[in-house]
Amino acid sequence: MKRILCLLFSFSCIYSFAQEKDLQNIRVDIIYLASDYLEGRETGKKGEELAAQYITTRFKEIGLKPKGLDNTYHQVFDFNYTANPHATSGEEKRGRNIIGFIDNQAENTVVIGAHFDHIGRGAFGSRYLEGPIIHNGADDNASGVGALLYLAQQLKSSDAKNNNYLFMAFSGEEMGLIGSKYFVKNPTIDLSKVNYMLNMDMVGRLGEDKSFVINGAGTSPSWKETFPKIKSGGLKITTTDSGVGPSDHTSFYLEDLPALHFFTGSHEDYHKPSDDSEKVNFKGVQEIGDWMLELIEILDGQGKLAFTKTKDDNQRRGASFKVSLGIMPAYSYDGVGMLVEAVLDDKPAQKAGIEDGDVLIKIGDLDVKDIYDYMEGLSKFKKGDSTTLVVKRGEKEVKVEVTF
Ligand SMILES: [Zn+2]
Repeated sequence: MKRILCLLFSFSCIYSFAQEKDLQNIRVDIIYLASDYLEGRETGKKGEELAAQYITTRFKEIGLKPKGLDNTYHQVFDFNYTANPHATSGEEKRGRNIIGFIDNQAENTVVIGAHFDHIGRGAFGSRYLEGPIIHNGADDNASGVGALLYLAQQLKSSDAKNNNYLFMAFSGEEMGLIGSKYFVKNPTIDLSKVNYMLNMDMVGRLGEDKSFVINGAGTSPSWKETFPKIKSGGLKITTTDSGVGPSDHTSFYLEDLPALHFFTGSHEDYHKPSDDSEKVNFKGVQEIGDWMLELIEILDGQGKLAFTKTKDDNQRRGASFKVSLGIMPAYSYDGVGMLVEAVLDDKPAQKAGIEDGDVLIKIGDLDVKDIYDYMEGLSKFKKGDSTTLVVKRGEKEVKVEVTF
C-alpha cells in the first residue's frame, strides 16, 4: 500500500526518502563516532585517528575538496600535554583537524565546524569519579560532527552559492581549543575572507519543547535581525551575546569574526561515561541542521557580515586593564573559577607562585566564579598594587600574595 501511495505522490515520497536517508546517515555517523571502538576519541590517541579516518571518508563521499595541508584533508598539530598539570613534563602529542571545502568561486567563505575529539578514558575533564573508563561523548561532540556532515551534504546541493564553505572537524577542543587555535594561527584559507563561523558543540539533546541555545548572538548585528525570519521546524531559540565561551567559536571570535555556538544544553551525562548514543535525539540533530541551513540561505545574498565585539567583552573584559597577571586562561574550562592553562615567565603570577593547572577562585575580596569575574577583578587594580589571590591546587586551597 505504501508503495502505491508513493507512485501516486512520487514527488513527496522522493522528498521523504531523501530526508529519511539523511537521518539514517546522521544516526550511523554518531553511533560509530560514539562507539567503544573509538575509546573516547582522545586527541593524540588511536581512537582520534580512527575518527579522523572516518570523517575523511565521509568528506570524500559527500564530495568536499581537501583543504588541509598538501592537498589532504588533514592539518596536523603537535602540542605538549599532560593530563596532570602538576607533572613535571608533558607528553608530546599530535592531533589533527579535518578540513573539507565547497568551492563556489565566491569571494568569501563561511566556516562550519564541530570538534570530534572527546576525553578518552576520562584521565582529564571527567565528572565521573570512579576509575578510568571509556567516555563515548555521543552528545559531546559526535552529535556536532553528525550535524556538520549533514550540513555539508545539504550545502553541496543548495542554491546558496554566494559563499564558499569550509567544513572543519576540530581536535584538541577538550584539552583547551587546541585545534581551532592552531587553525586560526595557521589558516589554510585567507582568514580575512572568512564571512562568519558556525560552531556546533553538543546539539544532540533537543527536547520536546524544541528549544536550543545560540551563544555569540552579539558578534554581528545580522544575527538578531535574521533569527526571527527562520521558520524551520518550529524550533525555539534562546541567545547569549558573548563570543567567548568554552568551545571553538571562541578562537574565531578572537580573530574579530562573527561566530555562533549552537548548543542543546548541558545535562546530567555531561563528561560522564553515560553520554551515549541511545540518549541522542537524532531527528533533533537534523532539525537543528535544517534551521542552520535556513540561516545560511537567508544570509547568502547579504555579503560579508559586520563584526561586533560583544558586550561582555567590552564591559567586563575591559579595554581599560592597567595590569595583567601574566597567565593564559583555559577558555574551555567550565567548572567554578578560572583555570590557569599556562603561567608566563617573569610575570606577576609566576613571581607569586601560581602554577599551570591552578584554579583561581578569589582576587582580593572578589569571588571568581568564571573568566568574567576574573577580568572584572583585574580591572580594579593598577600597577604597583598588591593583593591576595586564592587558588585551588588539586584538593587544597592555596593563598598567594601578588604584586602587579
Ligand atoms: Zn564539546
